[in-house]
Amino acid sequence: MTKKSKQKTPSKTFKIKECPKCNSDSVRVVIGENGIWECCKCSWKGKDIIEKELNEDKFMKYLNDKGEEVA
Ligand SMILES: [Zn+2]
Repeated sequence: MTKKSKQKTPSKTFKIKECPKCNSDSVRVVIGENGIWECCKCSWKGKDIIEKELNEDKFMKYLNDKGEEVA
């Protein structure tokens, strides 16, 4: 008997991006530059952005952790 693993991903995953320098998630694509990111906090700029994939649990925790930081 073979197990079919054709389930649609049971839990959502969320992709977040972080600055490799200060680990802030206040990063954004530089308009007009292809694949270049910049950090709003430390003004880092480059392509080596950190991508993380979080499941729903971790994402909630992540939101909680940064919850207090409302600019
Ligand atoms: Zn940064």
